[in-house]
Amino acid sequence: MARHADIAIIGAGAGGLFASIWAGRTLQSRGLSSTRPSSRIVALDGAKKLGAKILVAGGGRCNVTHHAVDETAYAGSSRNSIRNVLRRFDVAQTIEFFRERGVELKREETGKLFPVTDDAQTVLDALLNAAAAAGVQVINPWRVASVKRTDHGFAIQRDLPAESPGVRATVGGGVALGVGVGVGVGVGDVVVLARRIILATGGRSLPKTGSDGLGFEIAKSLGHSITPRVFPALVPLTIPKDHWLTSLSGVTLPATLELRSAGGKRLAAFTNSTLITHFGLSGPGVLDMSRYYTEAKLAAAPGAAPVLVLNWLPEENVESMDAALASAGRTRGTSILRVLEAKLAERVVRAICEGAGVDPSASLAELPKIKRRTLAIALTEMPLPVTGDRGYLFAEATAGGVPLAELKLDTMESRVCPGLHVCGELCDVDGRVGGFNFQWAWASGYVAGCGAAAAVTTSA
Ligand SMILES: Cc1cc2nc3c(=O)[nH]c(=O)nc-3n(C[C@H](O)[C@H](O)[C@H](O)COP(=O)(O)OP(=O)(O)OC[C@H]3O[C@@H](n4cnc5c(N)ncnc54)[C@H](O)[C@@H]3O)c2cc1C
Repeated sequence: MARHADIAIIGAGAGGLFASIWAGRTLQSRGLSSTRPSSRIVALDGAKKLGAKILVAGGGRCNVTHHAVDETAYAGSSRNSIRNVLRRFDVAQTIEFFRERGVELKREETGKLFPVTDDAQTVLDALLNAAAAAGVQVINPWRVASVKRTDHGFAIQRDLPAESPGVRATVGGGVALGVGVGVGVGVGDVVVLARRIILATGGRSLPKTGSDGLGFEIAKSLGHSITPRVFPALVPLTIPKDHWLTSLSGVTLPATLELRSAGGKRLAAFTNSTLITHFGLSGPGVLDMSRYYTEAKLAAAPGAAPVLVLNWLPEENVESMDAALASAGRTRGTSILRVLEAKLAERVVRAICEGAGVDPSASLAELPKIKRRTLAIALTEMPLPVTGDRGYLFAEATAGGVPLAELKLDTMESRVCPGLHVCGELCDVDGRVGGFNFQWAWASGYVAGCGAAAAVTTSA
């Protein structure tokens, strides 16, 4: 028995759930849901437990969005195309959606919005309840192995666990057998035939949650290209284990990170909280910078690697710092430590001085000019010996994916495979820390869901 759906959403994370909710609501508003079994919209997810990323987000509080979202907080596809999607479902609509589902959001000083419950579970519950109310059947665990085009839409093949006796299926041959009974799709079914699909499988970050990159292969098999580079974003950076910086493990301070090309051109800069760890650097400024660093490194010609420099005192630069040190040195007997302790913790000053080869207890007045300059550089333009990043296991997002240029932005429908819609992190869009990635998932999911449902014909 073949199982049919009007719309099958593959992946029920933030983007997929949102797409399914708006697909369901759109069908309801068109009066179609009452004439069809509710199971005509199905959301298939491979995970045993739904919403893993929503639950871990924001340290378990779920940073749902940011009060000021615009395209400048994103990278990947062109800013114009990102704006085009974001404006179709903005922050006010996100707040209203969750309010209507009983979840009030509060804005914190950083501009991030969290549920007043400080509990991500309330966000997930709201989404699942909204999906049920919109007539969506969410089925899990139901991992998709492949998708093939058929005359009437798509055949979605389940990735069968080895221990599934009695379950048989063929795709493409026109026969689909499932062990499930009754109307709709069940976990026992092995093939779903859908008129339209919304691919919302996420990227590769935190693969144990189920987003392991298979969605990229499915998109490719349906004719899409994937950006030549796909890499971890919002990810901590590593430095050599024995570098003196690691002795400052646990220190957090506001700092500026600047990315420079080998020729010294400023490519990106972020000023934010920076955390030094036993492996390297983390914190929002570092996470935001990581994708720009990796991208520049991958694009660099051999021998022309970009450089990441750290300014421990964002209000200073080399010149102003050198002048400040020179001025302080005019007071006889003033030590380096005494001057810098007013700005940085003693532990940090000692480590920076050690790294710069300067004795922190030395008198500034006696410090040779060249050493003073070296110290000023160490304080405001310290090159970081970055060795790489911590990879997808620790990344909060994925850079790269399906280029927006291959999608119609008013419906997120594929230009190369009609009937296929794409949303969420699978797209070549990645945002900064602060709720921007979820806002992308909400906006692109909304557009994909409404677009897919608007195209469902009454005769189907
Ligand atoms: C630790 C961490 C913290 C984060 N915190 C925040 C935050 O506070 N704010 C913010 O804005 N963003 C945050 N993010 C990023 C945010 O979680 C993602 O951008 C967002 O979840 C992407 O939504 P998505 O639906 O596109 O993908 P996902 O959330 O990854 O969902 C994809 C779904 O598809 C399913 N799937 C994958 N392949 C298949 C398949 N073959 N068959 C069936 N199902 C499949 C997966 O099981 C998963 O449920 C965080 C990410 C991480 C890792």
